[in-house]
Amino acid sequence: MKYPDNKNFIFTIFDDTDVATVGNISPVYDFLHEIGMLTTKSVWPLHCSQNDSDFAGSQTLEDPSYADYIKKLSVKGFEIAFHGASMETSSRGITLKALKKFNKIMGFSPKSYACHAGNKENLYWGEDRFSFLIFKKLYKLLNNKKNETYYGNNKKSKYFWGDICYDHFDYVRTFTYNNINLKKVSKNILYSSLQQPYIKSCFITSDADNVEEFNRLICTENQQRLETQRGICILSTHFGKGFVKNNVLHSQTRQLLEQLSKRNGWFVPVSNVLDFLKDQNKREPINQRNLFALELKWFLHSVQRKFTKKKYEKTELEYLSEK
Ligand SMILES: [Zn+2]
Repeated sequence: MKYPDNKNFIFTIFDDTDVATVGNISPVYDFLHEIGMLTTKSVWPLHCSQNDSDFAGSQTLEDPSYADYIKKLSVKGFEIAFHGASMETSSRGITLKALKKFNKIMGFSPKSYACHAGNKENLYWGEDRFSFLIFKKLYKLLNNKKNETYYGNNKKSKYFWGDICYDHFDYVRTFTYNNINLKKVSKNILYSSLQQPYIKSCFITSDADNVEEFNRLICTENQQRLETQRGICILSTHFGKGFVKNNVLHSQTRQLLEQLSKRNGWFVPVSNVLDFLKDQNKREPINQRNLFALELKWFLHSVQRKFTKKKYEKTELEYLSEK
């Protein structure tokens, strides 16, 4: 595959908005802009009414200063994406209201969406994430203590919004993996699935929960590998989680991103990368064998992730739950 502008590889980021405030993310975005890396920042349009949310304190488009900041990011060329209506579960009506709010403030609709972990309106989530019975059962077995049912694709539920999702979003994130080069995970980085008819196109990403995992994933060796393998990395992370301390970007992150930016990579937002893959006819319906491999690899990576989790220093976010 030839990349635009004779680039050797693709690198971009999908920033899940959990625990983000203008204060704890702006030094990250200032630096990304400075080094010419345009990425994707997701938002919640609405606050939630629950004071005991694990994510209470995160800012939403209902905060005028945050909304202004997000508009400025958009003008600079960053993509603004959707992370659900709010930090907690939302009914169909609230989801619709959130999409309207997004459009009113930003002046356009979001193109890409990623589920926020525990929200009940998530689509094809929990055991519904899997198409094969063996993985549904395995998932249930491993998560039997949690209340793990999701309703976004269930027409009978008040949380149903599958039809709205199909109409609004070009791209929905599904599985995430440990590998920096998604081409080594699957040739179906972007795909559609007959089992998930409410999603136009699914995409997979690499994953780094917080600053420590992010720095490990983009270490010099991995950057080198991504470049020599002519790979593609769409990296899901949370810029709210430890990237900024005392208003300064983590020094190692700064150094690694700077190093990466000097390589011959294509650094554009997630939807631009996915548009490019779509134009290369890389959105074909996934075949059963490749889908099986995606689901199996997700389990293998999840187990691996359990043993290699990295904690980060929660200095600036006293409101974060210790859970
Ligand atoms: Zn989230």
